[in-house]
Amino acid sequence: MNIYVLMKKTFDTEEKIQIDGGVIEEEGAEFIINPYDEYAIEEAIKIRDDHGGEVTVVTVGDEESEQQLRTALAMGADKAVLVNTEDDLEDGDQYSTVRILEAYFEDKDVDIILAGNVAIDEASGQVGPRLADKLDIPYVTTITNLEIGGEDVKIVRDVEGDEETVETSLPLLVTCQQGLNEPRYPSLPGIMKAKKKPLEELELDDLDLDEDDVEAKTETVEVFLPPEKEAGRVLEGETEDQVKELVSLLKTEAKVL
Ligand SMILES: Cc1cc2nc3c(=O)[nH]c(=O)nc-3n(C[C@H](O)[C@H](O)[C@H](O)COP(=O)(O)OP(=O)(O)OC[C@H]3O[C@@H](n4cnc5c(N)ncnc54)[C@H](O)[C@@H]3O)c2cc1C
Repeated sequence: MNIYVLMKKTFDTEEKIQIDGGVIEEEGAEFIINPYDEYAIEEAIKIRDDHGGEVTVVTVGDEESEQQLRTALAMGADKAVLVNTEDDLEDGDQYSTVRILEAYFEDKDVDIILAGNVAIDEASGQVGPRLADKLDIPYVTTITNLEIGGEDVKIVRDVEGDEETVETSLPLLVTCQQGLNEPRYPSLPGIMKAKKKPLEELELDDLDLDEDDVEAKTETVEVFLPPEKEAGRVLEGETEDQVKELVSLLKTEAKVL
């Protein structure tokens, strides 16, 4: 099977994020594989191990994205592709990314593409479904279970805590949700092997695209951190007095009563 994973390098949101002049400061920031893409990589490896074939991880990014691609290879993917837009474009949006991926997949024979449900930084959840639409293949989002039998695919998806079962067929694009699997950590032999696995680097030119073709359709006008939370207040004294004070504070300070 020809199994593809869409992977995005994201900021580690567990780390402190600095914003300077409306832009997230990259200097000193930690970068990781988008966590939902780790579920996609894990599932792709399992599909390959059960049904045969090859897992290719694709990212649209910069030179530094090589690090996350090598991690995916160390987990067990077979090949990686970096479409490096660093020299050609300053800002991209979902349109740019999908246009580039569409061009990449134009001459590929795809059985299944696995993406993350959402990227934890920009969080639009658009890339997977928009790409499937461009490739004219079905897509199922937020999947938590996947069974492939020949061309037929049975999927369980998360619908806000409930489950929905969907039957569809290959070729297919899915977006992966937490609970689908437990992504493995790269093993030491995996890390050693990853150094020798193929990592293809492409530029827009190689995909017969130029800057105008992928120019962003949207502009991010402002990025800001939420206001810092004030420390909570602990009420003291007799329970009856605390209740009175709480009601009074809800009326006078919080103004919710
Ligand atoms: C020229 C250019 C410059 C860019 N500069 C930056 C930047 O500085 N910082 C930054 O964070 N992003 C950058 N991007 C990436 C781009 O902004 C995002 O890929 C795009 O907007 C996706 O939006 P999202 O994060 O909401 O993804 P979502 O749609 O929420 O992501 C869902 C899933 O789609 C897939 N996906 C998303 N993005 C990519 C990708 N790039 N490659 C492969 N698969 C992907 C993943 O599987 C992901 O889990 C740039 C892109 C281009 C073309």
